[in-house]
Amino acid sequence: MNYFDYKNGALYCEEVPVENIVRATGSPVYIYSYRTIERHYKVFDNAFKGVPHIICYSCKANSNIAILRAIGRLGGGIDIVSGGELYRSNAAYIPNDKIVFSGVGKTEEEIVAAIRSNILMINVESEEELSTIARIASKMKKHVPLSIRVNPEIDPKTHPYITTGLKKNKFGVMREDAMKLYDRIKAHKYLMPVGISSHIGSQILELGPFKEAVCSLKEMVKQLKEKGITLKFIDIGGGLGITYKDELPPHPDDYARIIEEELKGTELTLILEPGRVIVGNSGIFVTKLLYIKKVPGKTFYIVDGAMNDLVRPSLYGAFHEIVPVRYNDAKKINVDVVGPVCESGDFLAKDRDMPLVESGELLAVLSAGAYGFSMSSNYNSRRRVAEVLVRDAEFNVIKSRETLKDLIKGEKIPSFMEV
Ligand SMILES: *Cc1c(COP(=O)(O)O)cnc(C)c1O
Repeated sequence: MNYFDYKNGALYCEEVPVENIVRATGSPVYIYSYRTIERHYKVFDNAFKGVPHIICYSCKANSNIAILRAIGRLGGGIDIVSGGELYRSNAAYIPNDKIVFSGVGKTEEEIVAAIRSNILMINVESEEELSTIARIASKMKKHVPLSIRVNPEIDPKTHPYITTGLKKNKFGVMREDAMKLYDRIKAHKYLMPVGISSHIGSQILELGPFKEAVCSLKEMVKQLKEKGITLKFIDIGGGLGITYKDELPPHPDDYARIIEEELKGTELTLILEPGRVIVGNSGIFVTKLLYIKKVPGKTFYIVDGAMNDLVRPSLYGAFHEIVPVRYNDAKKINVDVVGPVCESGDFLAKDRDMPLVESGELLAVLSAGAYGFSMSSNYNSRRRVAEVLVRDAEFNVIKSRETLKDLIKGEKIPSFMEV
């Protein structure tokens, strides 16, 4: 069952024609399917039913509070990487005891906010960060549950921009250093060692790297236990890949099986931080064809959506399938789908065979639910687009398109230039 499909020649999201949504919101627009998010979450959750676990959805993949609320309703928690994401999680009524905080550059302000909120644990990523947390905890006289994010030095064989567990990456600490940090935590009055974590990268399509990572963490848990440090949580991060084109990612059941096998006989509670696998294929980005431009040897589909709205193609050379919103089996032509932004790197697709469509028609960029809107910007003073959540036959605008006023919010002309 695919919740984005053609019926009578028109692309639908669940029971709503995409065209109807665009008529109400204008284009471009992100459209998400609630039932898809729900299904992905449940499949993932169900896969791990054999082990105690908490799913902390990685907020940065798609951080609209309606999406976070959807996760919360399904019983999920959130993995945050900033104070802003903590604020969003609170706005979405996510229980604080299901929030974990990762990230290499947590500020004092963010650490204070996290401690005040009594979150499940902070994933520490360096020795200096630990010192800062220790100082703040003592000052606040509050016990702070901590986990060390370990860099397991595993190559997840994905795009270099989205690997995080290699020696040269900025994330986590090396195994030997981690052991020393646990000693420091144990010796401190207000710090509590409760977990160990790792996150090796994103869009990972093989199980081997995950198995290696869990195995490595498990080994450390054992060593720590021998030293009298008993952990409760093992957090294996996110990273499971999805199909954009013809990738064959592991099924969550298989992913779960190899992890369960590793954890057999331990009393650890598993924490998972899936992002992309929950929301990636739950959303599309709809854009309108403005002009068809032909130059010798090349045809451009110039659309009203651009790299500021969906940066993955420009940033990673990522592939997103693009289909017309009105079913079209016309002869295919080779085109570049490009936006209005003044950068040659502004494209949604390159050398793509697409049916011949006319200016004014709508195109749907598929698999745009993760790292789409959340990575969008105002570059070229383009207003960030609207977001819509569909559930069955009903659709709700969950973020309205920015106004021109929003664009200059907070900006000020100094008095010496006032007219
Ligand atoms: C980005 C991130 C995730 C989610 O990664 P996905 O590939 O979207 O599943 C999980 N944990 C941490 C710490 C992250 O930075």
